[in-house]
Amino acid sequence: MSHGLSKSRLLSFLQCPKRLWLQVYRPQCAAHIDQGTATLARGRGIGELAHSLYPGGKVIEAECFDEAHRKTIRILWDHPGRPIFEAAVAYDDVVVRVDVLQPHGTNFRLIEVKASTSVKDYHLRDCAVKAWVCSGAGFPLTQVLLTHIETGFVYPGGGDYRGLLRTVDVTQQIAALLPEVPRWVTRARATLATAAPMILPGAQCSEPFDCPFIKHCHRALAKDGTLFPVESLPQGGNLIAELLADGYRDLREVPAERLTRPQHQRMRRAAQSRKAEFDPVAADELRALPYPRYYIDFETIQFAVPIWAGMHPYQQVGFQWSCHRERAPGEQFHSEFLKDDGEDPRRDFAEALIEAVGEDGAVIVYNAGFEGTIIRQLAADLPDLTSPLHAIAARLFDLLPLTRQHYYHPYMQGSWSIKSVLPTIAPELDYVTLAVQHGAMAQEAYLELITAETPPARRAELRESLLRYCHTDTLAAVRIAWHLAGRTVSETSDDWRQDG
Ligand code: SF4
Repeated sequence: MSHGLSKSRLLSFLQCPKRLWLQVYRPQCAAHIDQGTATLARGRGIGELAHSLYPGGKVIEAECFDEAHRKTIRILWDHPGRPIFEAAVAYDDVVVRVDVLQPHGTNFRLIEVKASTSVKDYHLRDCAVKAWVCSGAGFPLTQVLLTHIETGFVYPGGGDYRGLLRTVDVTQQIAALLPEVPRWVTRARATLATAAPMILPGAQCSEPFDCPFIKHCHRALAKDGTLFPVESLPQGGNLIAELLADGYRDLREVPAERLTRPQHQRMRRAAQSRKAEFDPVAADELRALPYPRYYIDFETIQFAVPIWAGMHPYQQVGFQWSCHRERAPGEQFHSEFLKDDGEDPRRDFAEALIEAVGEDGAVIVYNAGFEGTIIRQLAADLPDLTSPLHAIAARLFDLLPLTRQHYYHPYMQGSWSIKSVLPTIAPELDYVTLAVQHGAMAQEAYLELITAETPPARRAELRESLLRYCHTDTLAAVRIAWHLAGRTVSETSDDWRQDG
């Protein structure tokens, strides 16, 4: 049986043959991947901007590949010389869509447009597959170009995006890869002609992309009794590979002397006892923090094509924060900010934050690298607020390394993200009941909220969902800090008044 291949399927094969096999025969096993803060707004508008570089071009719009292919051939025939966007080309049962196919003399130019900030190896493999298909289909290429985002660009406003895109000639690199492509095609077909390849999860599962079958592959191992897979060891690298090669799948079976790092040893002990391990040293550090204490969390968004003047591509911009404040033990308040009018949120965000966290006390976050970066970027963008913003950055206290060093519950499965730790400490604060459950959903909600066409009732709903989500994030940080400090939570101690 012959299996139709596409560029995406070939790239999946190059990442992991099992990924291709699962994609074709078990697509229902793929999970949604939360791409985090970077991807949601990625690529918005890049295609349109790239098209403007090739005047007179025609976009191929179609319901299916066959229709797109027919339209591509029709335009090439009826309008020779006209660039084609999203051209559909097929050769040897491999189908591709080319971002721009531009007639160039008697031959063609192939141009790929990536919302990335540099040329990556997988872009070259992507271009090589397309170039091989185009050449085989009778479109000889004189040049292969790759257009990507220029990071140094700063948007001056007024819709002026000149200088945002940079085009690189990759013809030579592609020529070197072309002989490889038919071999990839043959091996991919051979993979699909047999049973699922026996491949264990490893470094390939996240390189160059997070594989959507990771849960499926881990579950398959768990069926063999692997509840606490050795792959969960953080920064496990070679150690994981060696343990797997020696037949160890579950942390509980690994001899103690094979694990030298205290963190790995703690994980093994916790897996064996099925109980949390907690080092009381964390309590001393937390009790020493001064009052008032401010627990803060930001929600941010990035745009590949900046929409507010003065911003560069992919600049992370905060549009929302939440703050739980303990003025003294038992004196508790909450305040929040959400910019929902679609205007540049930076100044309002920064001014409200400065007012909310005052001039003294600890500013507690879960992962200071993130909040610290946002605050410092705001200080750079708003010179008149540099001093108070730097003062806030200097007061940050990071709960993440403290938790990582002193706490582990076996159900965290090697992750110290706030959403992994929280269910082991305060299961009642469940994100599952929220309409917005993670950062990517928050970005999606925010984009809908600031869209002019969104009806008022829907806007109110989105606003409420975003506020609840961010509020839960800071309350989660409070509960983790209290737990590590050995503080018990009663109904009254969890009572927070709205901050005036
Ligand atoms: S999770 Fe890893 S092993 Fe499983 S298919 Fe994906 S890349 Fe391959």
